[in-house]
Amino acid sequence: MSQHWGYGCDNGPAHWCKEFPVANGERQSPIDINTRSAKYDPSLKPLSISYDPSTTRSIVNNGHSFNVEFDDSADKSVMRGGALDGTYRLIQFHIHWGSCEGQGSEHTVDGVKYDAELHLVHWNTRYGTFSEAVKHPDGLAVLGILLKVGNAKPEIQKVVDALDAIQTKGKRAAFTSYDPTGLLPASLDFWTYPGSLTTPPLLECVIWHVLREPVYVSPEQMCKLRGLCFSSENEPVCHMVDNWRPCQPLKRRGVRASFR
Ligand SMILES: [Zn+2]
Repeated sequence: MSQHWGYGCDNGPAHWCKEFPVANGERQSPIDINTRSAKYDPSLKPLSISYDPSTTRSIVNNGHSFNVEFDDSADKSVMRGGALDGTYRLIQFHIHWGSCEGQGSEHTVDGVKYDAELHLVHWNTRYGTFSEAVKHPDGLAVLGILLKVGNAKPEIQKVVDALDAIQTKGKRAAFTSYDPTGLLPASLDFWTYPGSLTTPPLLECVIWHVLREPVYVSPEQMCKLRGLCFSSENEPVCHMVDNWRPCQPLKRRGVRASFR
């Protein structure tokens, strides 16, 4: 199934553990963030995020979502602070979304699902490469931003416009001079916890930072996301919707908050 995992009845999240036993591991993501149990930790640093538009390279439909890819050969687009030690370089961002409003996010807050969730993926430069970083418990820092349908942030539109060129699995297009800073909400208050990738191979290498403040996307922009395809050009059309993994058990972990 390794090449065939997806989000359908026969290959979706409930089946992933057969090929990837870590799916039932001790620090899986996403989780429900219980705001009353999350503990304010004054030792957490403010997040420091610095993105350089010149590092934006391409956009690709990988059959599970779309990735906007970055040149990560130098410390140009980086995330520091928060629960992190050292410098983490931006390699890609992508979104998870639903088939209708009321679902689509991976993390939930007090049991409430958002309409979509943006993931900005960074790797710890201590490990030299992304593929080496994922072997370590502090290898990746993923910044999660909850998305809600409403009055859109204009900065998202350039990404949405680029989707026309990558409708089906395997398509790739140039995507340059884009500053993902425009995707962030005004406040960088966050919750943090140790977790995993939310797609196979589900490696437990992620220090999650989920922002408290959501960002808005328009109904039209959500429609464009749902118009993408899981399928490739020569397969029957299968629209890309509900590409989210449900919440996993917290187990022995605690969630810390950067704010009271
Ligand atoms: Zn993701």
